[in-house]
Amino acid sequence: MLRLDKYLADMNQGTRSQVKELIKAGQVTVNGQVCRTAKQKIKDQDTVAVNGQEIGYQKFHYFMLHKPKGVLSATEDARQKTVLDLLKPADRYRGLAPVGRLDKDTTGLLLLTNDGQLNHELLAPEFHVAKSYWAKIAGVADENTAAHFQAGISLRDGSQLKPAKLEILKQDFDQDQSEVLVTITEGKYHQVKRMFASQGMKVTELKRLTMGTLTLDASLQPGQYRELTRQELAALG
Ligand code: URA
Repeated sequence: MLRLDKYLADMNQGTRSQVKELIKAGQVTVNGQVCRTAKQKIKDQDTVAVNGQEIGYQKFHYFMLHKPKGVLSATEDARQKTVLDLLKPADRYRGLAPVGRLDKDTTGLLLLTNDGQLNHELLAPEFHVAKSYWAKIAGVADENTAAHFQAGISLRDGSQLKPAKLEILKQDFDQDQSEVLVTITEGKYHQVKRMFASQGMKVTELKRLTMGTLTLDASLQPGQYRELTRQELAALG
């Protein structure tokens, strides 16, 4: 059971004081009856509506975003656009945050949720959630590079990484560049870029394709997002 004002604030109908005003103004009904009591307890089977529009209660929200270049994986920033700014105001539920970070110039799969437990589980080192990236590299990655990744790279700062998988998609010896798929199970700062830097190469484009069981929906253009399907959510949890 939840108080009516909290129910409405959780469902993004306004701040707690704004929803109290709505309630006072008689704009809210519970099971078809105007309810002017913010403290009214709402049960699972109750139907709440604002101005005749039914508001279903959903505790947590999960969005798959195709992060574009140029936005920060943060919840707010004084100067720069964040991934939350890409959401329609009606979807900006309280507590929504990106699961992990992608660099400002990295694109691809980013999960946004206000389910703190899932957020924690997907990032916790002990769960070893695999993340795969498509990358364009200045330099030609080859089987030797893949062997180094598999053995576990030592970064320039001395940190030792876990084995990572490298699949070579394209090698262009004339242009001295390549395209690869990298799969890692950690999430260290700038990890993929630093792994290639340790091999004398530079990542020029980076796009995350998967995280655990979740795969970026190919129909989402950069900047677009959608809710996870039930199946996607069940597989993740
Ligand atoms: N590795 C990086 O270097 N950058 C990212 O954004 C993600 C992984």
